[in-house]
Amino acid sequence: MTATLMDGRALSSKMAEKITADVSRMKAQGKEPTLATILVGDDPSSKVYLGSKHKAAQKTGIASQSHSLPADASEEELVSLIEGLNRDRRVDGILLQLPLPHQFSERKMIERISPEKDVDGLTSTNTGRLFYGQSDLVPCTPKGVMELLHHYKVPIASSSVVIVNRSPLVGKPLYHLLLTEDATVTMCHSKSTDLASTTRRADIVITAVGRRPGFVLTGPMVKDGAVVIDVAMNRVDGKLVGDADFEAVSKKASFITPVPGGVGPMTVIMLMQNTLIAASRQSGLLLSSVVQG
Ligand code: NAP
Repeated sequence: MTATLMDGRALSSKMAEKITADVSRMKAQGKEPTLATILVGDDPSSKVYLGSKHKAAQKTGIASQSHSLPADASEEELVSLIEGLNRDRRVDGILLQLPLPHQFSERKMIERISPEKDVDGLTSTNTGRLFYGQSDLVPCTPKGVMELLHHYKVPIASSSVVIVNRSPLVGKPLYHLLLTEDATVTMCHSKSTDLASTTRRADIVITAVGRRPGFVLTGPMVKDGAVVIDVAMNRVDGKLVGDADFEAVSKKASFITPVPGGVGPMTVIMLMQNTLIAASRQSGLLLSSVVQG
C-alpha cells in the first residue's frame, strides 16, 4: 500500500478562501476582526511561528497587532499587557506565544486571558468546555487534525485511535475531540511501555513527540492501512521532519500527513477561524458557514 498524502496546505488554502469571504462580510457590517499576538523574548522559532500567523491574518483580511516584551520582563508587565488587550474592544483574539521565558508561570499567564478572546483555547474555562463537549474556542492544532480527518473522510466513530502525546496543547484536547466523535482513544507518553504493540493495533495513529532521534514512529509500529497523523516538528540535519519514518510508514499507511505541509498549515488557519469565531461572538455579528462548522 502507498499512502495518500493528507495535504494540509491545500486544505488550509481552501479554508482561507471561506474565512476571507466571512471577514469581508463582517467588515461590511462595521466590524474588523482583530488578532493581537504577544511575544516575550526573542526565541527564533517563536518568531517564525508568529510570522506565519501574521501572514495568514493579512491573507484573510484579519487585522493583526504584534506586541512584544523583553526576555527579562516580569509577570506584572505581561499581566498588565494582557489585561489592556482584554479591555480593548477592538481586539477579538489574544495569542500568547509559548514557550515563555523561565521566570513566568505559563499557566498563570494563560489564565489572565479573557476566555472570550482565548483564541488558542488554553484557558481552563475553554478546556473545561471542551471536556463537556461544548467546543467553541478549541486549541488550533487538535482542531486542525480533526479537520484533516473529516476532509479525508476518515471514519472516526468506533475507530481505535492512539495518540502519542499527553500535552495540554495537543494530546489532551485531541482526546476529548475524538471521544466526542465516538472513537476509542488510547493516550501514550514517555512512561508508556511496549508502545509498538499499542500503536500497531490502531486504525489511526497521531504522533506528536518531537524528540527525534530519541523517538521515531517506524514502519513496524503501524498496521497496514492505518491513518497516520504526524504533528511533530523535528530538525534533522537542518531539515524539518516529523516523528514518522516517512519512507517506511507511507508504504503501510492508507493516509499520512507530510511534514512540512500537513498539520502545520492547518494550525495556522484554525487560529484565523478561532479569531473569526471570537469576533463573531463578541460583536454579535454574522455567524457564517465557516463559524457554524
Ligand atoms: P511536549 O509538551 O514536549 O509533549 C511531548 C509528548 O511526547 C509528551 O506527552 C511526552 O510524554 C511524549 N514523549 C516524549 N518522549 C516520548 C517517548 N520516547 N515515547 C513516547 N512518548 C514520548 O510537546 P508539545 O508541545 O505537545 O509538542 C509535541 C510536538 O508537536 C513537537 O515536535 C512540536 O513542535 C509539535 N507541534 C506541532 C504543531 C504544528 O502545528 N504542527 C503544533 C504544536 C506542536 P510525557 O508527557 O511523559 O513527557
